[in-house]
Amino acid sequence: MGFNLTFHLSYRVRILLLFTLCLMVVGWATSNYFVDVFQELPTAKNVRAYFNKATVLDEEATPTTQALIKTADLENCPSLSPHLKGQSKLVFKPDLTLEEVQAENPKVHQGRYHPEECKALQRVAILIPHRNREKHLMYLLEHLHPFLQRQQIDYGIYVIHQILAIDNLKLLVLNSRNEKLLRYKGYFGGVTALTREQFFKVNGFSNNYWGWGGEDDDLRLRVELQRMKIFRPVPEVGKYTMIFHTRDRGNEVNIERMKLLHQVSRVWKTDGLTSCSYKLLSLEHYPLYVNITVDFWTDP
Ligand code: BGC
Repeated sequence: MGFNLTFHLSYRVRILLLFTLCLMVVGWATSNYFVDVFQELPTAKNVRAYFNKATVLDEEATPTTQALIKTADLENCPSLSPHLKGQSKLVFKPDLTLEEVQAENPKVHQGRYHPEECKALQRVAILIPHRNREKHLMYLLEHLHPFLQRQQIDYGIYVIHQILAIDNLKLLVLNSRNEKLLRYKGYFGGVTALTREQFFKVNGFSNNYWGWGGEDDDLRLRVELQRMKIFRPVPEVGKYTMIFHTRDRGNEVNIERMKLLHQVSRVWKTDGLTSCSYKLLSLEHYPLYVNITVDFWTDP
């Protein structure tokens, strides 16, 4: 009996210890993310793992996830949203403020939105490379938020500031049933959409293009090398407009781009996500978007 009691107690203690250990591991694993995001990525190989990890944990951390759980019982949204409308006339009010855009989008929290009336069929992360065009960003947010909401999708907007020059997003959606008009045969610039799997399959964007031009043509070649099919809507539906802008100083035309484009089939496997390291300099959650500032370099 005495032996049994001791055994029983130590068994309980052991269970308690195991439980405490499990809690510590879970605690460490979740807190690790918050620490990690402010640390430099040590190697390029981690980019993929880091990307996956950050995506999953970020979702867990946002209030939107809790809201998503609430919508779990809802019926799926229809494949064609009833809120779509045809081409809209875009007006760029010179005195528009970010506060006004925020007030027009009360259901957007930290750049995230999901329909409340049904369960979204698609989840989309909009990544906007951006530099020094605050007004353009504001006009983009003004039009993009209602446009995406009309599509009944679950989305988040992430604005990525690179410390050095990168090309800026400069097209604005005119029609919520659209993609875009082609500037030339095979044009793949402006706005393109790939699933996460497709993006990994092509090894992402090249890291070798500095200045203006070529990186989108390079991505198209990667997509073609993987024998992926590019879908484009009919021109009446696929329409964007460009906000007037002059050439960015410090982002000159890359005269090397044709030479680089000839190398794609040879280098795509080693130049891309697998060779990109970056340092997260800051992560700010604003009402209409998440602002991410990074410095990045290519592994030698
Ligand atoms: C550049 C692309 C650009 C396109 C349209 C091409 O010459 O390489 O990057 O998107 O022109 O402006």
